[in-house]
Order: sequence, then structure tokens, then C-alpha cells
Amino acid sequence: MGLTFSVLASGSTGNAVFVETEEHSFLVDAGLSGKQMEALFAKIDRDMGKLSGLLVTHEHSDHIKGVGIVARKYNLPIYANEKTWAAMDGLIGKIPLEQRFTFETETVKSFGALDIESFGVSHDAAEPMFYIFHHGGKKLVLITDTGYVSDRMKGIISNADAFVFESNHDVQMLRMGRYPWNIKRRILSDVGHVSNEDAAIAMSEVIGDQTKRIYLAHLSQDNNMKDLAKMSVTQTLQSRGVIVGEQVELYDTDPKNPTALTAV
Ligand SMILES: [Zn+2]
Ligand SMILES: [Zn+2]
Repeated sequence: MGLTFSVLASGSTGNAVFVETEEHSFLVDAGLSGKQMEALFAKIDRDMGKLSGLLVTHEHSDHIKGVGIVARKYNLPIYANEKTWAAMDGLIGKIPLEQRFTFETETVKSFGALDIESFGVSHDAAEPMFYIFHHGGKKLVLITDTGYVSDRMKGIISNADAFVFESNHDVQMLRMGRYPWNIKRRILSDVGHVSNEDAAIAMSEVIGDQTKRIYLAHLSQDNNMKDLAKMSVTQTLQSRGVIVGEQVELYDTDPKNPTALTAV
């Protein structure tokens, strides 16, 4: 089985990623209601009660809506950095002390043969961070909710076997769209979300010999479309010498439907 994952849901209506090895399984964020989370687990034929833990990236509601509910119901350990814990206070209900764990930015936690590494991103939350899973020589990177991809981040995430990579918006659609200017400015800022084109430029710099799969994630419902994101990322990658379909494959994610469970 090795390192296997499914993007359960992705987008501003809620985010959750499931990752498992032979011995352990984790949920990264639970940004949908408890009921919706259970429905997503049923679709991939997995049991939330068997999770080893729940890793939180940051306190925005599209990432933590269901955290308190599922953690209490299934008695799951929750991991987050101290600033995110403080920011979640009052948002996820009461969490018993024995379920609260600290996972600081740029540290590694080992669970048997699985190493989970955290790294900081640039986003308007208390201390947002994402996770990299290392198991049996394979590397899975999750990176969404960042205004840009810094050289430091690129160094940490480079040459993963699979990436779940933010491709949030088409800049043109966002500029022309109906959002008020302050929201547009927030999304376009260094602490907002990364556009299709900027994502592709960053991807072209972190793709390595190991890289096979890239999942386009956290697509805006108003300012992007799956086909447009795929086309735009493909074009930018090709223009920078990465051949989509040969070197790497691009995959969609969906706000409501899990991607097929796939070994990295
Ligand atoms: Zn988000
Ligand atoms: Zn966010």
C-alpha cells in the first residue's frame, strides 16, 4: 500500500485530505460539517474512528468547520501549532486536554515509518502551515492557502512524488468578477491565494525526477474553472519546458467529491 492519499474535498466551501500508510492514517483539516466529513469517508470506504490524528493547517473556517465535531465524536488527537490553537479557541468548541497536541512550524513528527514535516506558508491566518508526508522513500506535499511560493518553501517541497498544489484563481476572471475590491485585493496579495499562472511557475521550479502527479487544489468557485486551471497550468508548464502528460500528470480536485485513493 505504501503512502496513499485522497483529496476528500477542496475549495473555499471546505478542505480535507486523507493520507494513510500500512500503520497510520491522518486527516489534514476537516473544513466541512461532521455529517459531510462522514459522507466523504464513506465514499472512500474508510472509517474516521481509525484515524491516528487530525492535522490542522490554519484556523480559517474552510479548514476547521468540522474539526471539533469529528475530534470529539471519534476521540481523535488534534495537532496544530500554538498560534493556530490560540486562534481556534472559541471556534471549534471544547477539546479535552488529552486530545490537544502541539505541532510547531518547520518540525518533523514521526509515527512509526511515517515522517510528517510542517512548513510555513504566506497567508492571512495566525501561523498557517502545511504538511509533507515522507514514507518508504516517497514524498507527498500539500500546499494551498498561500499568497505566493517563496524560495524557502520551494526548497522544502521540491521533487515530491505527488503535490496537492493550490491553483486558486484566474487573475483575469478575478479582476473582472463581482467581488468587492477589498476582497480582490486580499486574494491577489502576498497573504492571499496563488493564481493558476503563479502556481504553475512555482510548480515548474519544484518538479523533479520523482514528480509524477500534481493535483490542482483550492480552486475558486467564482474566479476559476477546472478546465481553465488545467489549461493555464499546462500552458505555463510547457512554456517552461515541463511536458504535461509525459513528465507529470495533472489531476482535478472537487469541492464535494474525493479523488480516487492513490498510492504516491
Ligand atoms: Zn482555504
Ligand atoms: Zn485560508
